[in-house]
Amino acid sequence: MHLSLHEHWLEVEKRIKQACKRSNRERSEVNVVAVTKYVGIEEVREVLRLGLTHIGENRWQDAQEKWALLQDQAVWHFIGHLQSNKVKDVVGRFPFIHSLDRMSLAKEINKKAAASGIQANCFIQINVSGEDTKHGLQPDMLESFAQELTDSMTNIHILGLMTMAPHEEDAEATRPVFRELRIMKDKLQKTNIFPYPINHLSMGMSNDYEVAIEEGSTWLRLGSIIFKGG
Ligand SMILES: *Cc1c(COP(=O)(O)O)cnc(C)c1O
Repeated sequence: MHLSLHEHWLEVEKRIKQACKRSNRERSEVNVVAVTKYVGIEEVREVLRLGLTHIGENRWQDAQEKWALLQDQAVWHFIGHLQSNKVKDVVGRFPFIHSLDRMSLAKEINKKAAASGIQANCFIQINVSGEDTKHGLQPDMLESFAQELTDSMTNIHILGLMTMAPHEEDAEATRPVFRELRIMKDKLQKTNIFPYPINHLSMGMSNDYEVAIEEGSTWLRLGSIIFKGG
């Protein structure tokens, strides 16, 4: 078990390096969130020992125990759909939130962050593919959403955009979704709506991370490929 998790990671790391090379990118531009929603505390400890310190969870209920025991050893990312009534549990514990997708949620995050005297780092989640089953802001709402954030949410810092591609047998089929997200990010950057750089793209999961790197991902969210292998 110990060995295999290590081996899975070495293989992933090799593929990340190759994808960076293919697309003329530096390995250091690509960050990895190890998604531990499927596993328990021992496996999270192992991942931390591999030097992967960014840990992603998608439900507070499932993350709670791991967070309580390992809080200081990791940087916590909230990656899943966030209900407004869970914001009080998440803001202050998870310095990164990847799933900001509606104004009612922004208001709750901003309120809690202000009360705690912190800035909440968020990615705006976009439903690029337009699937009904996916969360995320509609692409055509992005500029007005960004404007309202910058005007009134002073305790939210936007890092960039996040999306989940549809699951495809052939990872190549996800490429247009990732490319579209990068174009949206570049456009948003050019509007200067935010008075700071919007540099980041949270995209790429176990089955499509190599394509996501080629299309400019700066944050991969990897779960099963680390724990179960490719
Ligand atoms: C579970 C999850 C992941 C990781 O998925 P894998 O396919 O196991 O790599 C990434 N992002 C989100 C939002 C998730 O819920």
